[in-house]
Amino acid sequence: MGNSRKILVTGGAGYIGSHTVRLLLEQGYDVAVVDDLSKGYRHNVPASRLFKLNIAETGALAELMRQTACEAVIHFAAFIAVGESMREPERYFANNVAGSLSLLTAMLQARVKHIVFSSTAAVYGNPHATPILETFPIQPVNPYGESKVMVETLLRWFDAIHGVTSVCLRYFNASGADPLGRLGEEHEPETHLIPLLLRAVISGEPVTIFGHDYDTPDGTCIRDYIHVDDLAQAHILAVEHLVGGGRSGQFNVGTGVGHTVLEIVRAVEEVTGKKVPYVFGPRREGDPPSLVAASGKLRAELGWEPRYADLRSIVTHAWGFARKRKG
Ligand code: UDP
Repeated sequence: MGNSRKILVTGGAGYIGSHTVRLLLEQGYDVAVVDDLSKGYRHNVPASRLFKLNIAETGALAELMRQTACEAVIHFAAFIAVGESMREPERYFANNVAGSLSLLTAMLQARVKHIVFSSTAAVYGNPHATPILETFPIQPVNPYGESKVMVETLLRWFDAIHGVTSVCLRYFNASGADPLGRLGEEHEPETHLIPLLLRAVISGEPVTIFGHDYDTPDGTCIRDYIHVDDLAQAHILAVEHLVGGGRSGQFNVGTGVGHTVLEIVRAVEEVTGKKVPYVFGPRREGDPPSLVAASGKLRAELGWEPRYADLRSIVTHAWGFARKRKG
């Protein structure tokens, strides 16, 4: 592809950010990563690309954008734990909302006109139906989801008033890892299903499955698991859309296919060749029974197609990374 477009990526040392940075570099982009390393890892990005900064540092961000002749921003930096947001909402509004406002202010100062934003399916709360269309009501049920809605709102006004165009990508269940095992999911503490199942296989300690009395074919929750590289590619398509003069918009990023928790357990057993130790526990508060994306808008308007739409690739790549990590 060989273009050398200059992109600033916040939160580029985290899970989805680092996979996106790697794809951008492979496709010839010139990337500067801003990360305060509070959650991300230094080893996830080339040292020469990393600027250790918090997104609250407006002046320093603007300076960096000027120095690097930044054309567009991809904004991942945020806190992501729903449960924590129910206990400490102030941290979520400070980091996710005020932090994003600081970033947008820096963009105005440096005259950067385009931003791709990490949003979430949590903006829909408990949707009345699946698959979920982008036009469904916005009604988050926790401060994490609300913080993302608030940034989507900021972005609408920055477009209307300042002409900053934006794409909000509403992620479903990001999962999997770099197919070559160089990067993967390393949240601390880990709360996501697939890495927990893989850890259970390695340690022998059972995972708790949250509820098996839902109104689904096997009683466990249905989610739309999307490979992190397919998710990363959606950001690159969104940048090209905006830089090419495309309009602002909100897009679901999911495959359109749902899987139950027990289907994921079976996929993990097939890939690893081992039994997953698990027990059934009570439902987790706030878990909707089924969250599946309608992904037609992203396909039609940004030309996105998943490369790894099957569960086996997702689990195989996650397993490759988990095994490597355990040495
Ligand atoms: N889940 C589970 N046990 C766990 C973690 C997750 O049964 O230890 C279930 C959870 O209830 C949900 C699905 O796995 O139905 C995916 O959860 P995850 O936390 O990975 O993502 P979320 O859908 O909450 O964003």
